[in-house]
Amino acid sequence: MKFKRLILNGFKSFVDKTIIDFPEGITCVVGPNGSGKSNILDAIRWVFGEQSPKELRGNNMEDVIFAGSENRKPAGFCEVTLVVSDVSEEIAEKWGTLSEISISRKYYRTGEREYLINGRKCRLKDIKELFYDTGIGARSISIIEQGRVEKIIQASPEELRLFFDEVAGVTKFKERKKEALNRLSHTKENLLRLADILGEVE
Ligand code: ATP
Repeated sequence: MKFKRLILNGFKSFVDKTIIDFPEGITCVVGPNGSGKSNILDAIRWVFGEQSPKELRGNNMEDVIFAGSENRKPAGFCEVTLVVSDVSEEIAEKWGTLSEISISRKYYRTGEREYLINGRKCRLKDIKELFYDTGIGARSISIIEQGRVEKIIQASPEELRLFFDEVAGVTKFKERKKEALNRLSHTKENLLRLADILGEVE
């Protein structure tokens, strides 16, 4: 998988629709302090589903929406879309796409939110599943922002284990195990309830 294009609209300092292409090779973003370089990384982690405003250098989720300036009113919503190319055949088939797929996240000041794959509404879980074995994700170490190296060096063994799980492709199985255990526990509860009802009827 390769990042092909990032489209920002109303996200932090990117009030107008901004398209950032990632051509073949290495892409460098340069600019003066405060010009929005880190906001680009924030946008990538946000579209992958980051839920913690602190991790996005804000106090609450509304802080990702353009807050207004001297000449511009605050935006009512923000949207980030990431276009990814070279997706696996399995993913292409599942989402009825060719070799590219786009993931989007929208957030309104009113609190409404939306996740989309190829413009179709989906769950955050669907987006996460697309990237399970790739080492890419909101908290993965494939995104290293300022201060992150220090955090990794100082990480506890438990936190480091999560990074290794991600890189080794174990996360997907852990998530599926968690889901299966949840379903099992619901089923056990249902069986108990059923046993109670049967007891009453008999
Ligand atoms: P440095 O080189 O100093 O690390 P940078 O280029 O990485 O800077 P960012 O941290 O990405 O800069 O951007 C900071 C700018 O984004 C600040 O000017 C800040 O006011 C602006 N900003 C952040 N959130 C919002 C928001 N919600 N609305 C408008 N502007 C915002």
